[in-house]
Amino acid sequence: MLAASTPEDDCHANPLHVLTVPVPDHCDYGRSVADEMHSPLRPETFVVTAGRPARTPDAPLNTPIVPASSFIAGGPMEYAREDAPSAHALEEVLGGLEGGSATVFSSGMAAAGAAMDLVPNGAVIVAPSAAYTGVAVRLRELHAIGRIELRIVEVDRTQDVVDACSGAHLLWLESPTNPLLQVADLPACIDAAHANGALALVDNTFATPMLQRPIQDGADIVLHSVTKALSGHSDLLMGALIAADPGLAERIRSRRVLLGGATSAFDCYLALRGIRTLALRIEQAQASARFVVERLRAHPAVSRVRYPGFGTIAAIETAGGPNAADSVCRQTRIWTHATSLGGVESLLERRRRWALESTTVPESLIRLSFGIEHADDLWADLSAALDASPDE
Ligand code: PLP
Repeated sequence: MLAASTPEDDCHANPLHVLTVPVPDHCDYGRSVADEMHSPLRPETFVVTAGRPARTPDAPLNTPIVPASSFIAGGPMEYAREDAPSAHALEEVLGGLEGGSATVFSSGMAAAGAAMDLVPNGAVIVAPSAAYTGVAVRLRELHAIGRIELRIVEVDRTQDVVDACSGAHLLWLESPTNPLLQVADLPACIDAAHANGALALVDNTFATPMLQRPIQDGADIVLHSVTKALSGHSDLLMGALIAADPGLAERIRSRRVLLGGATSAFDCYLALRGIRTLALRIEQAQASARFVVERLRAHPAVSRVRYPGFGTIAAIETAGGPNAADSVCRQTRIWTHATSLGGVESLLERRRRWALESTTVPESLIRLSFGIEHADDLWADLSAALDASPDE
């Protein structure tokens, strides 16, 4: 199912790429009742009903795990790097939630790498100072080898972002950012990118489509680390790119076919199972975040609290510095000291323990990822660790 196309040096068209891969239409594995309804479904209903097998007698309710690399010739699937039943069902859900066509990848970084591959050599990319570490490091590497020109901005300084977009090919936004939780004015920044003929990408991992839909604000591409809240159980790695424009979606799919970052059927099944409860998980975790953040603001061991007012992630700085932060991470019993975020279990970590984390992130900053435990228990555990004397 590969179609050849002519290379052009245009960001919105097809720079350098000789392949486009048609985004598959509906198949028996990825049905959505939304197609049969007269009014759009609310996201809470969509996450439960979309990406299911067709409703025929004795059909399974859930899309089966189909462990196949190749499919009998004559249909639209052919080979699993292009399309496969379990991935297809998940893409149906992700695309519908964000309002575009989704392509899933083997990790969020595989999705990010595919997006970086969309721009021509020498392209100007505008990106946040403290984007997710892996993204920030890879963009710096591409700059260092002359593949791109990187312009770093603080995404919450809208005029700086607008100015940096002059002559740019791609505006890479993360909002809220990881882990500083800076919030971008998405419509204004995306407009500035478009005024310069640049693509606008938004990493929507932190907010999730339950709280923010960047394509509605004009974004061309939405990126997700599906590893996080979308799958929600810290049991798989996966990424996704969702494009509003069908031509761009085809170019993205060709990146998966050529760069090879496809997903396993089992992981797609797990992600699909996890996403069914996304709405409930986000609601519970956000309520706990608001409850705990309010109390953290009054805690004497906390010198600064960062929380944008929505979402399931917050960050605190400990008044006693990095050692005190490490001690808090070691002393909690319900909160687990581990990297990553967005799972049912609450996690915390001092981000600067990672050598490559941006130096704009304070040394004593602890990122808090709220899970779905009871807020009272989360607060009791965290406040006890903050109250305790440093353990070393
Ligand atoms: N984007 C954000 C905001 C992230 O937090 C992460 C990982 O933490 C990624 C992208 C990369 O995703 P993955 O770890 O699934 O490769």
